[in-house]
Amino acid sequence: MFRTEKVLVLRETRFRESDRILTVLTAEAGKKTLAAHGALSKKSRIAAATQQLTYSELTLFEKGGRLSVREGVVLEGFPGLRTELERFALGCYIAECLELFSTEDQPEPELMQLGLNCLYALSEGLADCRKVKAAFELRLMAEEGYAPMDAVCRKCGSRQIPLPVFLTEDGSFLCGSCARDFYGLQMTDLSLAALRHILHAPARRILAFRIPEEDMRILARAAERWLLHCAERKLPTLDYYNMLRTEQNYG
Ligand SMILES: [Zn+2]
Repeated sequence: MFRTEKVLVLRETRFRESDRILTVLTAEAGKKTLAAHGALSKKSRIAAATQQLTYSELTLFEKGGRLSVREGVVLEGFPGLRTELERFALGCYIAECLELFSTEDQPEPELMQLGLNCLYALSEGLADCRKVKAAFELRLMAEEGYAPMDAVCRKCGSRQIPLPVFLTEDGSFLCGSCARDFYGLQMTDLSLAALRHILHAPARRILAFRIPEEDMRILARAAERWLLHCAERKLPTLDYYNMLRTEQNYG
């Protein structure tokens, strides 16, 4: 049986001489595993459409519960990711997170939209890597039901949360005067405002904020720590991305 599906290729693994096994994300049916026979051979017509970090429309053949790719058209190849190592590394981290947090056979339209929007912004240079990364991490957690509890100070109920402290062990916030006996990440008014924007803005607007460098640094730290806390495991693509950034800054 044939059918077409729009997919974001999250991961490709070489198999046999010229085959690829793909892990893809679809909006309607979540995560899927596909076989792409001959995708690595020189004459292959599905080579481009089955490449990692490509958004494609694939014609799939289903037999005995297994899906294989018969034809493919690239809808968006995100070319800007492939010309700069830092962007590509971040793209791979985004893909690893989407794979980790998406489910098989369950619609994931929000994750698909988030992934596509962030990869597009990255590819087109619409926002810098750190901003895309923080917005992706926080919004992904929110979509997965792990939104930080940003409404009020957990102890006194203040909505303003002056001198906010982010407790990464449970995702709650305390204001400065309530936080004395707690260990958490000291944030700023502007980094908290940006975090709130990312969590609550319409999907297409999550990158539409501007904060000074120092506040951005704090926001980035909060977003990464929270995702790692929720993921409960190490992410190789994150380690690689952070190593690249360290090398660029100090190397
Ligand atoms: Zn308080």
